[in-house]
Amino acid sequence: MIYCKRCCIPDSQEGVSFDELGICTACRTSEQKMHISWKDRSHELKQILDKAKQEATSYDCILPISGGKDSFYQAHILTKVFNLRPLAVTFSHNWYSETGFYNLQLCLKTFGLDHIQFTPSRDLVNRLARQSLFEIGDSCWHCHAGVGSFPLKIAVAFGIRLLIWGESICESSGRATYKDSVGSYDKDYFTRVSAKKTAEEMANTGCASLKELSLFRVPSSVEIANTGVWGLHLGDYIFWDEERQTEFIKSHYGWRETEMESAFKGFKSAECIMAGVHDYMCYHKRGFSRATMQAAVDIRNGLMTRDEGLAIASRIDAEIPHALEYYKQLSGLTQEEFDDEIKKHRASSFDSTSVKPVQKLRKSPEVLEPFVEQILKRMQGSTDSRLTPKDQDLLDSESWWS
Ligand SMILES: [Zn+2]
Repeated sequence: MIYCKRCCIPDSQEGVSFDELGICTACRTSEQKMHISWKDRSHELKQILDKAKQEATSYDCILPISGGKDSFYQAHILTKVFNLRPLAVTFSHNWYSETGFYNLQLCLKTFGLDHIQFTPSRDLVNRLARQSLFEIGDSCWHCHAGVGSFPLKIAVAFGIRLLIWGESICESSGRATYKDSVGSYDKDYFTRVSAKKTAEEMANTGCASLKELSLFRVPSSVEIANTGVWGLHLGDYIFWDEERQTEFIKSHYGWRETEMESAFKGFKSAECIMAGVHDYMCYHKRGFSRATMQAAVDIRNGLMTRDEGLAIASRIDAEIPHALEYYKQLSGLTQEEFDDEIKKHRASSFDSTSVKPVQKLRKSPEVLEPFVEQILKRMQGSTDSRLTPKDQDLLDSESWWS
């Protein structure tokens, strides 16, 4: 593999390109970030948001929210700094960790948000997560697609024109630069970049019907145009520093990190128990995982040297996440079937002999099972102490409803 001369991003990363000096786009955009007048951009943002407030008839904007560090910080900026009234909209992957569940509830309460959530059924999630491996080579089609479609559905249904996301797509994806990002809005971005397949294509595989996938379908261009829906990323208007923002929401509001698999930071995708599985699949396909991405950001920000970054990334990228057991359980795939399938999705540009998974010795403090399943098991495994014996007799006799 060829690596960026400055950070540790390899050429097997999707969408990456290197300039004549062998430096990747993300490193170049991080230089651009230092030369942007963020004061001008935040002034521009204020004008946009003031206009949105004037025009809105119900909610000023939609805040797509997971409760993760970005959406928590977005909620702070929109409500406390710009005094907006957003409607919080969550697509739930139904893989919430206990920490993630807490963070989402804390966010809704702290900022006094009205909230709409779509949670696909356990059975549908399991079928989609299995088929996702075959179709796109990772476990998370339903999340990629739902995050892209559901807030748009709500925007169209309730006539709320503005959607506000967090981190700029220029930040570390290498897919755009700060010079060409502002003002661009693309309803099919999530389909193209992460989901890869439309709901229609997924239905064609037979794993779910198009009816079951109706909320995963992106609204049509006509529906979008008729409502006037558009979107922006706060990271294109205010200087984005995920470390500093995370420290801020932790100390001011009590937001919590957790230990994340396939990563050495506890704040990225902290709401999901399966993030490590998604990233581990990337390790098989492209020879690197989340730890490499995080090290690259730290190198760019001067927090570690390139050698330190390469060392920590190579150690953690190779760890087999404990949540892989849950994935095998929900998909019904054996280890062999999983290994055979993931090989088919390998990028041609890297030498797969470098893929050498190792047992993960770090113990996760998070129970790697969806939090709601944990609650159900706990409550079903114990009798309800709030019922008196007399209540229980009444329930058992079923006479109360007949
Ligand atoms: Zn780089």
